[in-house]
Amino acid sequence: MTHTNYPHLFTPLDLGFTTLKNRVLMGSMHTGLEDGNNHDRLAAYFAERARGDVGLIVTGGYAPNRAGWVKPFAGKLTTSREAKKHQQISGAVQSEGGKIALQILHAGRYAYHPLSVAPSRIRSPITPFTPRELSTAGVEKQIKAFVRCAQLARDAGYDGVEIMGSEGYFINEFLVTHTNKRSDKWGGSYANRMQLPVEIVARTREALGKDFIIIYRLSMIDLIPAGSSWDETVTLAKAIEGAGATIINTGIGWHEARVPTIATSVPRGAFAWVTKKMKSEVNIPLVTSNRINLPAVAEKILSEGSADMVSLARPMLADPEFVKKAGEGRADEINVCIACNQACLDHTFANKISSCLVNPRACHETELNYVASTNTRRFAVVGSGPAGISAALVLAECGHEVDLFEAASEVGGQLNMAKVIPGKEEFHEMLRYFKGQLELKRVRVHLNTHVTADDLQATGYDGVIIATGVVPRDPQIDGQDHPKVLSYIDVLREQAPVGNRVAIIGAGGIGFDVAEFLVQDGRSPTMHLDEWLEEWGVVDPADARGGLAVQRSKPQPPAREVTLLQRKAGKHGAKLGKTTGWIHRAALKMSNVQMLGGVNYERIADEGLLISYGENHENPTWLDVDNVVLCAGQLPLRDLKEPLESAGIPTHVIGGADVATELDAKRAIDQGSRLAATL
Ligand code: NAP
Ligand code: SF4
Repeated sequence: MTHTNYPHLFTPLDLGFTTLKNRVLMGSMHTGLEDGNNHDRLAAYFAERARGDVGLIVTGGYAPNRAGWVKPFAGKLTTSREAKKHQQISGAVQSEGGKIALQILHAGRYAYHPLSVAPSRIRSPITPFTPRELSTAGVEKQIKAFVRCAQLARDAGYDGVEIMGSEGYFINEFLVTHTNKRSDKWGGSYANRMQLPVEIVARTREALGKDFIIIYRLSMIDLIPAGSSWDETVTLAKAIEGAGATIINTGIGWHEARVPTIATSVPRGAFAWVTKKMKSEVNIPLVTSNRINLPAVAEKILSEGSADMVSLARPMLADPEFVKKAGEGRADEINVCIACNQACLDHTFANKISSCLVNPRACHETELNYVASTNTRRFAVVGSGPAGISAALVLAECGHEVDLFEAASEVGGQLNMAKVIPGKEEFHEMLRYFKGQLELKRVRVHLNTHVTADDLQATGYDGVIIATGVVPRDPQIDGQDHPKVLSYIDVLREQAPVGNRVAIIGAGGIGFDVAEFLVQDGRSPTMHLDEWLEEWGVVDPADARGGLAVQRSKPQPPAREVTLLQRKAGKHGAKLGKTTGWIHRAALKMSNVQMLGGVNYERIADEGLLISYGENHENPTWLDVDNVVLCAGQLPLRDLKEPLESAGIPTHVIGGADVATELDAKRAIDQGSRLAATL
């Protein structure tokens, strides 16, 4: 094992009564598995991460009582019977040499059910239920529930608990006047408001003794108006240390904050500076968090003294062997989390079990496995987009011989367009990983090769997988052959020159991407932390409560005047991800992109684009633009299917070639991997 590349990351952390083998904490993620009888799946999921050498695992949130449920029948830990079932999880992790803490999460007014409780009767902007205001005795009951839950966690075999005090949940709601209007001993002065978390930690420590890890997750920058001041946050951290916490973890932003905190357009390690501010204030270890997706990023943060540990949540979904690979000098083999949220958080909000766009096995370890085949065969995969590459890699992993054919000069298909969008730089990592894996798994890649059905038949493959992707839909607009008309491929792949005033036809994922590309003119705030913080109005929490600037956002002036059009009425980008669509809309709004809906495209000519509105084609208007970019969706390209099937060759169609509508890399990778695992 070589740890020399990341000496800080691999320095053990002595907690007095126990030692963590390295500085990586697997941060809490709600996967949906917590909410049912999924202990075997959770055991397999966490055990795989423990085998991958992570220093300390934190589970998804478990409620200490029904009122604290995130949603009806969400995971809770309130009885000895429930605790007994958890022994399967803690035991699986510990038998792999790992350590695991259970997160206690009381949702407060973020609960998605009518039994919710909070310091005051104030509904959150992200939930439809108004919470019941707790009586003074009611608050006492909640504290007791936290302590009891921690005791049950120890009975369940956990090495510790994380008390969730950030992100705007129950405990956090007591801290700020935004949500705490109480006049009893739990409200009023800050000393009163912070008493709840301090009591919870102190009483938990008292009940559990010294040799139990208590992590307190503390909101270090609320990113909401009237959030905590920095003095208050420091006062709380010191009191939490005094109350007996072992470790303080960093929380960034309430869920209702209108600042992105984990999306792919957030710069890597964007909030480590906040944790660093706290380093000189307390003596117990501090964990920092958010957008740390590579060992080098983690090492830099630790070596700069910003924190004692790093929390990686989504990167642990993407690659259970993140730490092991880093330690063995194989960091370039890490499957990198691209922070898309598409298969993790977006699934949570859709009440689906989480997974990972780049690793469909995440949270599905008991049912999706790439097992060595006893009957090795030869396969051809045509098309090297995410679907084709995933299928080729899994086939190779199962021991088959694979030829991957690509008509273009590089692998990646549409990923090569995604990677040029400002804020989507992480797609470079995905491509780098894919290329490395193709080499490592000895897939024979044939670039610049337009393969025909006859070629494939002549070679005599045992099976062919068609992953030839999509072609742009022809919107058939009068005058669309005018020289000012471009396709998204011209703009993103061919880098065609684009004028200052642009109309974009189609406001799907690609229309949004093209708009972001054109307003930024190639310069991405994601690569410049100061610019990004300024764009979203984030300042030092010592200068403004909650770390929000008085003037909320100061984006760079847009490079072009862009109009984004769609035929349907309603919100633009309605089908973008639940947790990221609002960010794309907000970013384009800041760049003054005009969003027009309910339009008809009448004609394109020297004057620009003629549009009208509604069924009766009312209010015809010329948009005086230099270029019109077509982003009108896509259609499947699967010309090979019929001739191959007629020739009797076992043929499978995947990705956009299968279904082009609402295609995304998540579906492509999942479909490619699952198909290959069954062949
Ligand atoms: P899309 O999301 O299906 O959007 C197609 C757009 O074209 C719609 O706005 C549609 O709106 C318009 N349109 C459809 N038929 C048209 C016609 N005949 N004439 C004019 N306009 C027409 O497709 P896409 O933008 O090509 O994206 C493909 C997929 O890639 C997306 O579904 C998405 O999942 C994925 N993607 C995702 C992201 C992301 O950020 N997550 C980014 C890029 C791509 P109207 O019918 O209302 O006009
Ligand atoms: Fe990361 Fe996307 Fe996977 Fe979530 S789905 S873990 S954000 S790569």
